[in-house]
Amino acid sequence: MMEIHSLSPDEALAYLQSSNQGLSEEEALKRLKQQGPNKIEEVKNKSLLKLLIAQFSHYLALLLWIAVGLCFLSEYLHPGGGLMNLAIAILGVIFINAIFTFIQEYKAEKTIQALKKLLPFIIKVMRDGTVKEVPSENIVNGDILILREGDKVPADARLIEATDLKINDALLTGESRAKHRNPKEFYGNYLNSPNIIFAGTFIEKGLGKAVVYASGMNTELGKIAHLTKELHETVSPLQQEIKRLSKIISAIALAVGLFFFFLGFFIGTSFWQNFLFGIGIIIAIVPEGLLPTVSLSLALSSYRMAKKNALIKNLSSVESLGSVTVICTDKTGTLTQNKMHVEKSWTFESSNKDERNNQFDDFPMLQQGIQIKKKSASGLLIKIARFSNNAINDNGRYEGDPTEIALLKATESLSKNIKSERIHEIPFDSERKRMSTINKIDGTLLLLTKGAVETVLSLCSSIFSDDNIIPLNQEKKNTILQQYQAMMEESYRVMAFAYSELDPSLEKDYQKELKPKLNLESKLTFVGLIGMRDSPRPEVPEAIQKCQEAGIRVIMITGDAGKTALTIARQLGIVKNNPSVIEGPELDKLSDKMLIDKFSSGEIIFARVTPLHKMRIVTVLENNGEKVAVTGDGVNDAPALKKAHIGIAMGASGTDVAREAADMVLLDDNFASIVNAIEEGRTVFENIRKFITYIFASNIPELIPYLLCALFEIPLPLTIMQILAIDLGTDMFPALALGAEKPSKGIMTQPPRKAKEKLLNFKVLARAYLFLGPIESVAGLFGFFFVLKSGGWEWQSPLSSDSHLYMQATTTCLAGIIITQIANAFACRSSKESIFKVGFFSNRYILFGIASSIIIALFIIYTPLGNFIFGTAPLGLGTILVLLPFGIGLLVLDEARKFIIKRIKKNRG
Ligand code: ADP
Ligand code: MG
Repeated sequence: MMEIHSLSPDEALAYLQSSNQGLSEEEALKRLKQQGPNKIEEVKNKSLLKLLIAQFSHYLALLLWIAVGLCFLSEYLHPGGGLMNLAIAILGVIFINAIFTFIQEYKAEKTIQALKKLLPFIIKVMRDGTVKEVPSENIVNGDILILREGDKVPADARLIEATDLKINDALLTGESRAKHRNPKEFYGNYLNSPNIIFAGTFIEKGLGKAVVYASGMNTELGKIAHLTKELHETVSPLQQEIKRLSKIISAIALAVGLFFFFLGFFIGTSFWQNFLFGIGIIIAIVPEGLLPTVSLSLALSSYRMAKKNALIKNLSSVESLGSVTVICTDKTGTLTQNKMHVEKSWTFESSNKDERNNQFDDFPMLQQGIQIKKKSASGLLIKIARFSNNAINDNGRYEGDPTEIALLKATESLSKNIKSERIHEIPFDSERKRMSTINKIDGTLLLLTKGAVETVLSLCSSIFSDDNIIPLNQEKKNTILQQYQAMMEESYRVMAFAYSELDPSLEKDYQKELKPKLNLESKLTFVGLIGMRDSPRPEVPEAIQKCQEAGIRVIMITGDAGKTALTIARQLGIVKNNPSVIEGPELDKLSDKMLIDKFSSGEIIFARVTPLHKMRIVTVLENNGEKVAVTGDGVNDAPALKKAHIGIAMGASGTDVAREAADMVLLDDNFASIVNAIEEGRTVFENIRKFITYIFASNIPELIPYLLCALFEIPLPLTIMQILAIDLGTDMFPALALGAEKPSKGIMTQPPRKAKEKLLNFKVLARAYLFLGPIESVAGLFGFFFVLKSGGWEWQSPLSSDSHLYMQATTTCLAGIIITQIANAFACRSSKESIFKVGFFSNRYILFGIASSIIIALFIIYTPLGNFIFGTAPLGLGTILVLLPFGIGLLVLDEARKFIIKRIKKNRG
């Protein structure tokens, strides 16, 4: 291709058949059809085939393959020994398990991918001579990108204008230092050209315009995309724990299996009999399908979070959310609606001073119809508010920073007849807390500055009062600060406005991009204050209260002034008493230790902070053992978002940089959505415990028959095929349903989970292995012996394994376990709450799960095919009636356990 970096900006535009007006919509559409969408082909994490093969080759599967091999070997050595069936059965296990796992993992993956699409990537471009917002995918060659701080560059482009532009290309070069960029021609290596900005880089500072010359897979990023196909997959700590757990349990299973295998030798049973036993025990203990169920449960939970406007970027954040202890939140936009409007203003005009005695006025202070005097404080105030402003009114649709939109709305009709030309901008950032522009208005060159009162006032040396400029003395300064205080006490967001007249010769320098290095923002003339109202979001007070009940601290961190912050914090209920309001400069003086002391000793608000302060607060809190969630929207917030346990970016108003650095994106910018997500995070942890309890419980009645059979020489009460029928059949869907339980009522009234707390603690295991499991074993074994006895069997008399009586007896044992597991599904819905309180019908998935259990059981017990596969025989109604009380009994006993634990807790607390 043409060496675009060596062309001048105009030549580059011409080469790409574009112009300063941008493309026409029509032309853009035409080019889009030719070029295709501006998209880097989704690099697939894993190919489907690989994913499927993995299901057949993991640790447990290999174990089973060996078993299959041994079975075939035995069949070869002892034809007709019955091990052929077992081989087929185990093959069945491998396949059912693999396919089920595959489907779950695939579904989890799909869910995550679908979530990523929820976040549109919107780009500002020049088309038909106006600024338009288009999805990143529709960018074509020749489009003119309008870039500012925080934007992600959507395609490779050649700069045509730049103001103090710095970019960060860490994604491409790995280097995180920001680099200056400018539109001048460059004759060196294209990849190092300072006038080229590549897709995937970020604008770290400044403003710029650039014309796109490569999009989609033709960008440098697209070219290297295939090299980075193996996007490393993040495995959440929870998934790791489950993986580790499965391995441990499989090892235990193997050990127990081997133990009984050798015990059999000792007792003198045949080799193949022992082998059968060993396999049975292993299959009984191993929790097949645990890991995929956990992954799916996490994915579904992140899907529910997305529906509540909290988009999770990777699964590990789902569980991290559940353990959050502190939320550090911005004020503007997150706690408030970010729909500001101007209400009050104040200037040194005589009308103000005399009649109202330092009272501030409703804005605008001018009656309608009154002309803005050429030189009046109110006239100047309007000009600054109107023209030191980047918001735009696109036929009634306002775009831009909410603060600026408010100022635009308040001043646009009053400034209709004023002609202004923007020469230069020194952009706003939250460190400077101000913004200035150079404008030519009615022939004079002005510097217009607006920003935080302290900052702007410190740059002023004079004030504008009644037609003339007088020096700013201490008395006047105090008057201004008094006004400021008074406005803040009424929760206004207050900004100061100032200006200075510049030497007209400067204009040429700026037009020629010579940009003299002058300290322009100094010796300004103070003009006035404007007070804006930004109402709190109505959902926030309830969310704050929820946090307080849940033991989560909410700390406001804002760039706004302390007084305003305090007033809003009071309104929202974030603080109730007299909090320490720490402003940026004061924070700098505190040591980490003092900061922690302040944090521990009472309510705290941080105001007038910079992103650097935010980073420090997060670091100090985390070093003190807190799990911190922090919100952020600007470029400078990215480090704090990365550092925090959970970084939360704004989806509606934030920058691309912040969204990239965050773990979670709030689609509606709303604080209440954070709390909803935390609730989901806590819930998923509980739910995983619920289905683990459920699955583990049935392993006991599967195992005990083998132990009894080996130790007491009774007929085997449950065959291997029947174990599989439970583990991979009747248990599957109720377990999934438990993973989909809604948040329980009490979930947000308990303190955050301790960071060290393991998923499987003694309580969870004891309930499954020592309580629920034994009850189920009694049910199964009682059924088994009941049928044998009524069939005339005597203790230790021989029983052929293909007799009808034996088949009926094992079937009864199986039915006993299934019936008690159905009751158990209800019991496991809560570990503490009575099922009558939780409600039998409040999770309809459970009902579907149980229906599936019953249908599978009916198939196994009452169809010839089921009988053939599982070695079962139909049961009479009487037998079922004998088993039912065990189901009811399990529920009653678990209710009693819950009741007693509640009692004990009550007495203690
Ligand atoms: P916050 O959003 O928490 O109020 P910011 O860092 O965005 O914090 O803003 C800090 C201060 O900078 C504000 O209180 C205001 O005085 C000033 N400010 C905000 N937006 C602008 C802007 N567009 N132009 C000039 N000053 C601004
Ligand atoms: Mg802000």
